Amino acid sequence: MSVKEITVYNNLTRSKDKFNTLEKGKVKFYSCGPTTYDLLHVGNARALVVGDLIFRILKASGYEVNFVRNFTDVDDKIIERANEQGVDPLVLSQKYIDECLLDMASLNLLPATHTPKVSETMDEIIDMIKTLEDKGFAYVVDGEVFYHVPLFKDYGKLSLKKIEDLQFGKRVEVDSRKKNPCDFVLWKPAKEGEPSWDSPWGAGRPGWHIECSAMAKTFLGDEIDLHHGGIDLMFPHHENEIAQSEAANGCTFSDHWCHNEFLNFGSEKMSKSLGNVITIRSFVETYSGEILRHILSSAHYRSKMDWTESVIDRAIGEIERLHVFYKELMEMPRSERESQKDFDQVASSRSKIEAEISNDFNVPGATSELFSLIRYFNREFISSCKEGISEKLASDIISLLKFYSSATGLLYQNYEQVLRHINRARKALCESSETLTDGEVEQLIKDRKEARASKDWAKSDQIRDKLNEAGIVVKDNPDGTYSWHYK
Ligand SMILES: [Zn+2]
Repeated sequence: MSVKEITVYNNLTRSKDKFNTLEKGKVKFYSCGPTTYDLLHVGNARALVVGDLIFRILKASGYEVNFVRNFTDVDDKIIERANEQGVDPLVLSQKYIDECLLDMASLNLLPATHTPKVSETMDEIIDMIKTLEDKGFAYVVDGEVFYHVPLFKDYGKLSLKKIEDLQFGKRVEVDSRKKNPCDFVLWKPAKEGEPSWDSPWGAGRPGWHIECSAMAKTFLGDEIDLHHGGIDLMFPHHENEIAQSEAANGCTFSDHWCHNEFLNFGSEKMSKSLGNVITIRSFVETYSGEILRHILSSAHYRSKMDWTESVIDRAIGEIERLHVFYKELMEMPRSERESQKDFDQVASSRSKIEAEISNDFNVPGATSELFSLIRYFNREFISSCKEGISEKLASDIISLLKFYSSATGLLYQNYEQVLRHINRARKALCESSETLTDGEVEQLIKDRKEARASKDWAKSDQIRDKLNEAGIVVKDNPDGTYSWHYK
């Protein structure tokens, strides 16, 4: 099958490379997933959304993608939290996996092909550690297994760090049992009250890095096409994954490495209402999942992004413009109206959007191209006095919108619901507004309509002022109906 050519900024080469896959038309893609011991923070959502954008764009470009995103359900932080709460660590982590799946759905994430958990991949993890031990890359001290970093000649090739430059032991005391300060844990013996699994080295549990190497091998094979994670994972996590996988499998681990930048907090003093909204769940409940996804997709994944009110405000405006356009297009009467210029504009927008997403997954670039089409459409069709749009032209635009929607997850078929969420978000952001319930607003608008019908202008003006104070704008439509939104 034919696939579109894509370029990807590869952190292994520090350059934008043509994306060649091991097997034509197929992609083996691994993204490091969350550790589940609490509700996820909005900062965690950026890696999730970026992983999903890459997955969607590869699919929309014609690739068959085998996408693995793991859950770390065995970890020090999980055990610590579970002990504080007096619950079983695996029960606690499963609870937060379920919560995370809800968050992922509200962020419009497509389900990955595989979502393995550490607790269910234990045999494969133990097998890989055994292979590393057999090949001489791992050694055992008191039931603890370490990876001996100096034996892996390519160590540092991703992060460009050299073993001799790593300043261990300056601030953190080095475990004296390690042969080299850079050596890291593959398997640790169980302590009292911790979950443990039987292994050739006694009961214990794996170190963090080995899980991703073992899961990638289990679901994707020895060599994969693309590996993604947050930039904070590049060292030591991804460097250690490479060391483990390449030593155990005897081949390159991943041909391309992508890292998303951070979401910066604290660059601006936030209003109290927004400053407190720090989990994905609280943001989604107060604003909406569409808004959080849009915010996180509004900067290129390799750019740092500030969490500010203006970023949120801009995202709300953009989502509204996208969905008002979609609504107007769907609801516009069909007529004979079309011209070659219109078809050329749609075709040109489509090729520009495809070019942007193929260029290192440039989603903001694609959105900006779509806005050019929206401006053209508004000028030629909405602001003009002529009626309607031809069926053929409308269906060309709808097909482009569906492509944009599948590649970015930023346009929703249920535009009415999204526009309601936008209204709610504006209300939440509008701190100074007097709060009125939707029912009260509807009643006031009805009263105003009646006042106008009976030519009671004083009452009509009084109600308009009251709505205005609450930050509500009422629009009277030519057909006698009305709509309202928050300023
Ligand atoms: Zn990982």
